[in-house]
Amino acid sequence: MTRPSDDFLTDAKALLGDKGWSEDADKLKEAATPWRGTWPGETPFLAMPGSTEDAAGLVKLCAKHKVALVPQGGNTGLVDGGTPHGEITVSMRRMKQVRNVDTRNNSLTIEAGAPLVDAQAAAEEANRLFPLSLGSEGQATIGGLISTNAGGVAVLRYGMMRDLILGLEVILPSGEIWDGLSGLRKNNTGYDLKHLFAGAEGTLGLITAATLKLFPKVAKATGWVICKSASDVVDLLALVRDHAGDTVTSFEIIPARAIEMVQADVPDTRDPAPSGLPWRVLVEVSMSREDQARETLMEALGEAIEKELADNVIIAENQAQADSFWHIRETIPLSKRAFGTAINHDISVPVSAIPEFLDVTEAEIHKVAAQAEIVAFGHVGDGNLHYSACEPVDVDQPILSNHAGEITRIVHEQAMKFGGSISAEHGVGRLKRDELAGIRPKAATETMRAIKTALDPLGIMNPGRVVSV
Ligand SMILES: Cc1cc2nc3c(=O)[nH]c(=O)nc-3n(C[C@H](O)[C@H](O)[C@H](O)COP(=O)(O)OP(=O)(O)OC[C@H]3O[C@@H](n4cnc5c(N)ncnc54)[C@H](O)[C@@H]3O)c2cc1C
Repeated sequence: MTRPSDDFLTDAKALLGDKGWSEDADKLKEAATPWRGTWPGETPFLAMPGSTEDAAGLVKLCAKHKVALVPQGGNTGLVDGGTPHGEITVSMRRMKQVRNVDTRNNSLTIEAGAPLVDAQAAAEEANRLFPLSLGSEGQATIGGLISTNAGGVAVLRYGMMRDLILGLEVILPSGEIWDGLSGLRKNNTGYDLKHLFAGAEGTLGLITAATLKLFPKVAKATGWVICKSASDVVDLLALVRDHAGDTVTSFEIIPARAIEMVQADVPDTRDPAPSGLPWRVLVEVSMSREDQARETLMEALGEAIEKELADNVIIAENQAQADSFWHIRETIPLSKRAFGTAINHDISVPVSAIPEFLDVTEAEIHKVAAQAEIVAFGHVGDGNLHYSACEPVDVDQPILSNHAGEITRIVHEQAMKFGGSISAEHGVGRLKRDELAGIRPKAATETMRAIKTALDPLGIMNPGRVVSV
């Protein structure tokens, strides 16, 4: 790690003011440690700009002194993108104001460092809905969510973060401010620059604020369904959509083994409907009236029982019961961790290919590690599975970490064979940069390099993430 020059540090400290920077060892360590504790990094300086002007001034200084920076939000990213490895860290968390709510235009302008829950609360206060929702919503920030094009549990109905932005304010790597904040839904005036920054993981600019789409508030009906096969789960999705159309907001698959893990890890968690069958589905339908949503879901799940796609169903009686279903789903990543080695993947395949993908991939993994337990869960409605090979707790001789590379190769190879992606919603970061360079069409990687070089010729903006230049 090279410490930036004294000239840079003196100018940066003067620009940012006392609250805007830190060299305290504990704070630097915290900034360099991501949510999972994996890939700990190091950083010589933590900048915390409080305004767009300060952020722009800082990036200008970085360009002048050729100092590399890592934009950072909640540091909940899962691909080693927002953790510094020698660069200075620019934490956006002081910039968290709601700038404007326009209920007639159904839009909200909010600063990049605001956690997702603040956007949701501002929408709620205005009797509107901001629909993005995910397990890290208390910490993940608007800037980080845009930069990773986050998905979450309502993608089926509302799309990913990219689909929810109307405009952006961004500091370009030169330090120039691009004011692209706009509530317009139609604006065909050339390249749609906001989409360049969505999913760019901070490699093209520092996002300081965003205008987001708001939606009418909806009432939900939440169901918990027991299924005997992944094939039935996929057919169930089609059946529920026949009844509820685009009002199916969430459709999450949960293996029985994951529920056992959550129960063993989190005291007082209850399996809503114990069964020896292997799969559960958490399904949510949202409509303007609760009775309408409930009736539609009941009809759909009633037909699923008749057609033997579902063995048992529970429709939540109230919000507390719905929350208890969601609690199980959201706790799986943490509970899985409590059980020792888990080789995790974030893949997607076409929904129709999920059952065969699951069968083939498990069989291939068992050829190299017969004792691996497969826990595949997540957003089956978008074809996105969080696919883990886990070491059983009571095993005499742990072997899984010896086969980590091989297992990942199998999962990724199968995902690609089935027409899928090896990075469904968590992004690329440093973790998947090189593997993706070999998988993407060459023309795509070269175009990305050309864009990166054109916008950031000095290579100071989150270098080494997404694509190497
Ligand atoms: C428990 C848990 C559940 C999760 N569930 C989901 C899920 O369901 N779906 C999903 O998609 N993700 C999920 N994630 C992943 C994660 O929350 C997202 O990647 C999130 O979008 C990152 O936001 P952040 O503010 O923490 O960004 P960080 O982790 O700080 O940064 C992520 C990337 O964005 C860049 N960045 C951050 N802020 C800015 C900015 N202002 N301008 C430019 N670049 C910036 C960083 O440099 C980095 O490359 C989950 C994570 C956890 C821990």
